[in-house]
Amino acid sequence: MSGTDADVIIIGGGPSGVAAGLELRRRGVEKIVLLEREAQLGGATRHCSHSPFGMREFGRVYFGASYGRRLEEEAQKHGVDVRTGHSVVGLGMDGSVEVATHRGVEAMTARRIMVTTGAREQPRAARLLPGDRPIGILTTGTLQAYVAFHGLMPFRRPLIVGSELVSLSAVLTCLTHGARPVAVVETRPHALARAPLSWFPGLVGIPFRKGVEILDILGSSRVEAVTLRCDARSETLACDGVLLTGVFTPESALFLQSPLGVDAGSAGPAVDQDGRLANPLYFAGGNVLRAVETGGWAFREGRAVGAAIAQDLESGSPAADHVSVSYEDPVKLVVPALVRRRDIRSAALRQFQLRFLRKARGTLSLTIDGRTVWHGRGRWLPERRILVPIPDSAQDARHIGFRFAEEP
Ligand SMILES: Cc1cc2nc3c(=O)[nH]c(=O)nc-3n(C[C@H](O)[C@H](O)[C@H](O)COP(=O)(O)OP(=O)(O)OC[C@H]3O[C@@H](n4cnc5c(N)ncnc54)[C@H](O)[C@@H]3O)c2cc1C
Repeated sequence: MSGTDADVIIIGGGPSGVAAGLELRRRGVEKIVLLEREAQLGGATRHCSHSPFGMREFGRVYFGASYGRRLEEEAQKHGVDVRTGHSVVGLGMDGSVEVATHRGVEAMTARRIMVTTGAREQPRAARLLPGDRPIGILTTGTLQAYVAFHGLMPFRRPLIVGSELVSLSAVLTCLTHGARPVAVVETRPHALARAPLSWFPGLVGIPFRKGVEILDILGSSRVEAVTLRCDARSETLACDGVLLTGVFTPESALFLQSPLGVDAGSAGPAVDQDGRLANPLYFAGGNVLRAVETGGWAFREGRAVGAAIAQDLESGSPAADHVSVSYEDPVKLVVPALVRRRDIRSAALRQFQLRFLRKARGTLSLTIDGRTVWHGRGRWLPERRILVPIPDSAQDARHIGFRFAEEP
């Protein structure tokens, strides 16, 4: 290392950032600085008062908060230079970052930067929900932070909006902290979580309605009721809060404010099979790549990208050109969205991950230079993870694309 503050700066101390730091240290990279804006490491897992976390990485099951503490202990034990209370507020194109602390804003430089800033649930404003603006409209993450860090349960009879896995986490948090949801509602015609998990609200006696439209939120200071439309009938449901769950979006503000930008499909940075951006000084991993995966997935992905960075620092050879992976509706996103001329077998991401925008029936195919190298036929559901192995031939390709032939 010479003339820089670190070999690698990692931005974000959730599972993916910590795992990357541990892997870089394990591979002998000397100076790893992990910048985290909160007072502790652990990221989104810290406020999850439930399990399961950590089975594959640490061989035992943790609740979210204790998993976060384990991540912090591991980082300290293995010599990662952890700096909490450090918010990154700017990314330079030359391996420099602007960091805000209680001392003010300062610049730091590194040979490589890895961004692992996670994802967040979409708040009310971004969902364009109509109605009054009373207090008591929260996301699951905010509710869980109230409960875990301040011992506060802000309502007793909330309406839960959404049916992803995190929506079940919201139901659990309510039930275990003295609140009983009046209903769980989903705007789509089907649940987003897989069965049997999607049966959970019904099993604990909470009505679960699908195909629901939110017409109005009522309340002058606190939430008092929500008007819904379902099966062409409208109904006003009394409740004292609205819990907006899921609809995660990558925490991409740093990319949006820099020339690095984001991928239109994933809303996170476009990366190659090593988690590397078009600017070769930058890497990314975890939920910032695509919303949203489990803690274990984020950890493994962070570790794999950390290994790729270590290899890159050692090889010293410049990054090759890349090709962009093309796709079209109803495919929502493909990660990685770039492929570089580099051995696929030793890549950090060995599979393309896709999501669909909507439910569709038909044949999904992967073509490389005009030749179909993979296809799958069936019924594809929105937001479900689809994994397609990246073939070795992709590294020499000039055109890589996903196509979809829809059936009525
Ligand atoms: C409510 C909820 C329940 C969940 N339940 C489960 C579960 O039961 N099991 C499971 O496996 N997974 C669960 N998850 C998912 C799991 O928490 C995430 O997959 C995992 O935390 C993602 O890790 P990450 O490192 O990508 O990002 P995160 O954990 O989100 O970490 C990102 C970190 O980056 C920091 N950061 C962001 N911007 C900056 C900046 N500019 N400067 C400095 N630091 C910054 C943040 O403060 C945060 O600490 C749940 C998630 C939520 C929200």
